[in-house]
Amino acid sequence: MVSGPADTAWRVGSVSRISKETPSAARIVLDVDGWPGNDAGQHLDIRLTAPDGYTATRSYSIASAGPGMVVDLAVDKLPDGEVSPFLVDDVMAGDKLEVHGPLGGWFVWRPDAASSPVQLIGGGSGVVPLIAMLRSHHDTADATPFRLLYSLRTPEDTFFPEVLKDADVDYVYTRRAPDGWPTPAGRLTKDVLAASVFAAAEKPRVFLCGSTGFVETVAAWLVELGHDPRMIRTERFGGT
Ligand SMILES: Cc1cc2nc3c(=O)[nH]c(=O)nc-3n(C[C@H](O)[C@H](O)[C@H](O)COP(=O)(O)OP(=O)(O)OC[C@H]3O[C@@H](n4cnc5c(N)ncnc54)[C@H](O)[C@@H]3O)c2cc1C
Repeated sequence: MVSGPADTAWRVGSVSRISKETPSAARIVLDVDGWPGNDAGQHLDIRLTAPDGYTATRSYSIASAGPGMVVDLAVDKLPDGEVSPFLVDDVMAGDKLEVHGPLGGWFVWRPDAASSPVQLIGGGSGVVPLIAMLRSHHDTADATPFRLLYSLRTPEDTFFPEVLKDADVDYVYTRRAPDGWPTPAGRLTKDVLAASVFAAAEKPRVFLCGSTGFVETVAAWLVELGHDPRMIRTERFGGT
């Protein structure tokens, strides 16, 4: 749809809105002049330049998809991080950010009404590219069965709740579950994974995203549960 030859230009994105998404994360909406649009699942790079010329570049998934020059991001703050505290705490509406993208052609879902279902699995901010896929699926009324398994710390840490309310989502709360939740808070286990995702026999395409440790653990469990590794696409955000 909007994928084309790689575009290597750096562009200037204007922050049209920044708001608190969770206690530790901000949602940042950018207007990027000349942005070619993007597929669901792609990311961009943000480059910060200090007055002495020092630069730091980090990747951020895009929570929006399709044509247009508006790009929706959500950034979780790592307290000891170099870039994310600046983006979450210091950026204000009207600020300009240098961006490069869209990037990535593998961790991408395009509306295709294929019969094999799509299983999304996100840990923490790893849900961001999956939000773009959910939006694209919803906006195009695509008939592919879609499910999301979302591992997050507490109910307050939910990213994009307005998108998730219309989706088929299984939540795993790792630190504190909502009052009355049927299961106590705790990390995702292989048994909960098996009970929450499309069975291997249904041959789902899986999009799995989160910290490196989360992705590697869950990908290994999926293979042990009989999922074809060729059907599992992963995006690692870093960390352990
Ligand atoms: C393709 C891609 C898409 C991404 N999309 C998003 C996104 O949509 N939202 C978002 O918030 N982040 C996203 N990230 C992560 C992001 O690029 C940065 O790594 C993150 O913001 C930390 O940068 P920093 O400069 O603040 O921390 P750094 O100074 O780079 O690191 C500080 C410390 O945190 C550790 N660390 C780095 N990254 C992580 C992590 N993800 N989890 C746990 N520990 C980590 C480092 O090892 C280090 O110890 C994405 C990463 C990739 C590769």
